[in-house]
Amino acid sequence: LYVEHPLGAGQTVPLDRDQAHYLFGVMRLAAGAAVALFNGKDGEWLAEVAEAGKRGGTLVCQEQTKPLQLPPDLWLMFAPIKKARTDFIVEKAAEMGAARILPVQTEFTNSERIRQDRLQAHAVEAAEQCGGTYVPEVADLQKLPRVLDQWPAGRQLMFCDEAEVGNALQLAAQTQKDAPWAILIGPEGGFSEAERKRLHALPQSHVVSLGPRILRADTAAVAAMTLWQQALGD
Ligand code: SAM
Repeated sequence: LYVEHPLGAGQTVPLDRDQAHYLFGVMRLAAGAAVALFNGKDGEWLAEVAEAGKRGGTLVCQEQTKPLQLPPDLWLMFAPIKKARTDFIVEKAAEMGAARILPVQTEFTNSERIRQDRLQAHAVEAAEQCGGTYVPEVADLQKLPRVLDQWPAGRQLMFCDEAEVGNALQLAAQTQKDAPWAILIGPEGGFSEAERKRLHALPQSHVVSLGPRILRADTAAVAAMTLWQQALGD
C-alpha cells in the first residue's frame, strides 16, 4: 500500500477513509494483520494493523523488507493522446522503471488537457501493483520547445522517429551507459518537420527506429522503454 507518511521502526501510520475501506472493507483485514507499505522514499516496510475502523485506522511499522530501489535516471517524455491511452503510457512507464514522466505539448498534439493528479494516481497504482518502492513523478504538461530550450546538458535523448531507419542506441550504449537519459514519443500526428529538425540538431539526440511499421504512441512508448532497458538498463 502506498502511503504519504514517513516510514520507520515503530512509526505509527494513520489511514485515510479510502485506505481503511480498501484494507478493512475490501481486503477484510483485522487488527494484527500484516501490510506492506511504501512511500517512495523509505523503501518497503512491513506494518501491523493496530486499529481497524470504517472511516480510518492505524498501522505500526515493524521492519523494513526492501530498501528503496531508485530506478535509472530515465525520463519518459510523450505527447498526450486520448485519455485512456495516456493513462496506459503512464502506467507502463511506471511499471517499466521510468524515474520521471513528462507529458509534452508538440505542434500536432491534440489539445487534450491532462489531469496531472489523475496521472500521478495511475503511476502510484502501477508502482503498488509491481511491488516497487519508488513512484515516478508525473510532471505538469510542458511545451516541447521550452523543454528543449532548457535541455539539461548531460541528458541523452532517445528520439523515436518513425521517419528514420536504424537504431543509434547500441552505439550510444557504449559511450553513454551511465548518463541520464530521456525517451521522446510523439503524438498521433507525429512530429512536425520543424520539430524533427530541432530534435535531430540536439547534440545529445540519438534517433531510433522502432521497426518498419508505424506504431501507436502507446505501443511505441512500451517498445522504446524495452529497447532502452535492453541497451542501457541496469
Ligand atoms: N507520424 C505518424 C503519422 O502521422 O501517422 C504516426 C506517429 S506515431 C502514431 C506516434 C509516435 O510514435 C511517433 O511520433 C514516434 O515517436 C513513435 N513511433 C511510432 N512508430 C515508430 C517507429 N516505427 N519508429 C520510431 N518511432 C515510432
